[in-house]
Amino acid sequence: MFRYYNFAEMFKPEDGIMYLRKSRADDPLLSVGELLEKHEIDIDSWCERNIGGKIAQSDRYYEVVSGEKISERFEFQKVLKEIENPRKKFIACYDVSRLSRGDLEDAGKLIKLLRYTSTYVITTCPQYVYDLSDADDREKFERELKQGNMYLEYFKKISNNGRLLSVSQGWYICSQPPYGFNRIKVMDGKRERPTLEENKEQADVVRLIFDLYVNKNMGRINICHYLDSLKIPAPRGKQWSHHSIKDMLANIHYIGKVKWQEKKTVMLVEDGNIRASTRKSKMGDYLIFEGKHDAIISQELFYAAQDKIGRNHRAKPNTKVRNPLAGLIFCQCGRAMSLRTYKNKDGSMRNVPRLLCDGQVYCKTSSALYEEMLDLVRNILQEEIENIKLHIESDDGNSVKLHQQLINNLEKKLKNLQEKELSQWEQQSHPDPAQRMPPEIFKRLNERLIAEKEETQQAIKSAYETMPESIDYAERYERFKVALETLNNPDANPELQNILLKRCIDRITYSREKAERVKSQQERYYDKEQKKTRYRSPLKTGGNWTSNPIELDVKLRV
Ligand SMILES: [Zn+2]
Repeated sequence: MFRYYNFAEMFKPEDGIMYLRKSRADDPLLSVGELLEKHEIDIDSWCERNIGGKIAQSDRYYEVVSGEKISERFEFQKVLKEIENPRKKFIACYDVSRLSRGDLEDAGKLIKLLRYTSTYVITTCPQYVYDLSDADDREKFERELKQGNMYLEYFKKISNNGRLLSVSQGWYICSQPPYGFNRIKVMDGKRERPTLEENKEQADVVRLIFDLYVNKNMGRINICHYLDSLKIPAPRGKQWSHHSIKDMLANIHYIGKVKWQEKKTVMLVEDGNIRASTRKSKMGDYLIFEGKHDAIISQELFYAAQDKIGRNHRAKPNTKVRNPLAGLIFCQCGRAMSLRTYKNKDGSMRNVPRLLCDGQVYCKTSSALYEEMLDLVRNILQEEIENIKLHIESDDGNSVKLHQQLINNLEKKLKNLQEKELSQWEQQSHPDPAQRMPPEIFKRLNERLIAEKEETQQAIKSAYETMPESIDYAERYERFKVALETLNNPDANPELQNILLKRCIDRITYSREKAERVKSQQERYYDKEQKKTRYRSPLKTGGNWTSNPIELDVKLRV
């Protein structure tokens, strides 16, 4: 639909509010200030061309600290208050997604608010004026918001990969530096990268703590008292706590390393509100990489402390993941399957590596050749990639739409039937008996109608049950492809292979019947010399074990 607006008649500069916000999808090389300024110039020039002047400085809102949800964006909350003022007629912004990139609930609230306050939204990229009392505009607006949301979801996934890449190169990506360091930025080619630098004063305290713990044999609580008595300020709170000492003693940043710990976002419901909370994955479940920063504690001292703590053995570099399948394959008995290598005393390989249940002595499940399992996992990924390709080619997004159409039609039909039933009853209760149907005919018609209604209800129910899942196949395709390519790359880091695999596969349950020694078939023959019936074995072919088929129960990630 095309509408012609005479903007100069509709709006005056004082009717408007300008809202500026940098979103995560914007050019990361531009600072917030630079980006907002760029958008501001765009909007100013639109206003000058169309409504004869710029929006007043006091009506401009700059969101500098930006959250995804409206409740986290304080400047925008002021804007929402401001549009309740009837003199304000429009919000000018760069594009629709500046207003909301949150979830559908946020979007719904926003649309209602704009609609009932009769507030127009003017965007400069693309140039458009949204009149939310108009159904077409509302639909367009909603669509843009949703796309923004989908884009954000996608962006989150990608940027997570980017973060992992940064950490694997040794950069320190968290916002807070560990005690003992300052967080600084250094140039890496043309890019600014975050890393750590010794904070002399704090680093001395760290060295003191390690020395007290390892060399002076002081316990953690006594260390706290000692530091407090020296009036050394604690990292948090008034006094030193033995928890923070414990964390510090195991902090691998002190030996010049960085770590990657995948955080899982969990949705929590609190007082009827949904809140996202990040929960750390289980203790020790992280990757360690060589950092770009200098160590402030020697490795010997650090590992001596680890030995004393008697835990955290995973932090030692020699227990790095060397098996890309680690944590993915479980035996039918429920235990994990581990890689087992067989070496001679001189270090040469005695036997090919195998994957073995951790409790094989109890469950007796046969092991598998490691190479064979890798091949099976490659096949699983390859098969799923083919499967995803089929979905993309057959445009399953479309099939979801068609299915929804079918449900809509059925629901319309059901509504018609219900109306028909009502009118039949109305007719049958007509005050003039001559207008009524003969009772048997009414009964028959009514029964047919009820049967048809039930049939339709059944059809709706089964249509809902068979509704195809709506999956972002493009994203899935990328994810599986990257995992397979990395697994096929002999130079790839096994830890990275492992992480990428875990993004595709939840769990593989392995079962295989217990191998048995093949009993050599004894054959009976007649020994002419001895004149006796005797038994002999056929020629031996080495260890004769049955090789039962491997069965895998695979649970892929959605
Ligand atoms: Zn087992």
